[in-house]
Formats: sequence, C-alpha cells, structure tokens
Amino acid sequence: MTLAYVAIGSNLGRPVEQVEQAFEDLGSIAQTVLVKRSSLYRSKPLGYADQPPFVNAVALLDTALPPEGLLDALQAIEARHGRSRSFANAPRTLDLDLLLYGDAVVDQPRLVVPHPRMHLRAFVLQPLVEIAAGIAIPGIGAAQAMLEQCGDQSVERISG
Ligand code: AMP
Repeated sequence: MTLAYVAIGSNLGRPVEQVEQAFEDLGSIAQTVLVKRSSLYRSKPLGYADQPPFVNAVALLDTALPPEGLLDALQAIEARHGRSRSFANAPRTLDLDLLLYGDAVVDQPRLVVPHPRMHLRAFVLQPLVEIAAGIAIPGIGAAQAMLEQCGDQSVERISG
C-alpha cells in the first residue's frame, strides 16, 4: 500500500456538494482507502480570472493501485461528474490531481508526480499542510515553506 495525496477542485454547479461527493467517490476506488480529508477552502481562480471562485480540498488515500491506475480512477470520477476540458484553466465541475504518490517521482507523458505546479498553488498547499504538517515534496522541499512563498494568493477556509 502507498499513501497518495489528491487535490480536489470545483467551481461549477454546486462546488461544495461536488467536493463532498468527490471525497465519497475517492473512498470507493478499488483497493483504496480514504484515510484523511482536509477542510474545504475557497480560492480565487488563477489564470483565467473571469469565472466563479473555486472550492478546494485535499484527500489522503492509502492505495494498492499503481500511480497510473490511480490516475485512471481519478479521471473516471471526473468524467462521472461531467467534466469537459474546454480550455486551460477553464471552469470545471470537478478537477482531481494526483499530487504525491509516496515519495515516487514519475515523469511520463500522461502523469507527472509530484504534480508539477502543486508547490506554486496556495489552494493545494494550504489543505495539504492541514492534513500533513511537515510533509516534503520530493525534489522541491517542505510544503509549508512553499506555502509561505504563495502569500499573495487568497485562500480562505470555509468548513471543517
Ligand atoms: P488538467 O486539465 O489540469 O486536470 O490536466 C489533466 C491532464 O494532465 C491529463 O491529461 C493527465 O494525464 C495529465 N496529468 C499529468 N500529471 C498529472 C497528475 N499528477 N495528476 C493529474 N493529471 C495529470
């Protein structure tokens, strides 16, 4: 079994319900247990700004799936939530990113782990350090130190 962290984001439909449902869906993945869930956070969109705020969270899974198999499961959940990829940074009903898979480093066309932009995003780092204080991002450094460099990004805790 391997501990894996997954970022959850939604800004269309009913984002809070989408994120709550996503936690349930993550707990239903084969050979996988949902170990921890962060609080929910609200963040301003990065990139394409003319869209609703996001609701974000992070889940800790313990899984026997290989990283690619876990990505398949995440993409199947996204598809069930009706996500369509229109353009980069577009609004989405549900976005699931594999942040960390144990201390593995994966660099394949379909899958890059640690997620290549996670250390730049307060809406990922804030919920991550809530459930994994002291965690390090392989090849990057302490998540807490990365979060302190994202001080200009607005992320607000909305529920426990
Ligand atoms: P996005 O639209 O930002 O969610 O990106 C989805 C695309 O990123 C898919 O084609 C995935 O195969 C690819 N991808 C690469 N690394 C990851 C990762 N760590 N987690 C999720 N998707 C990834």
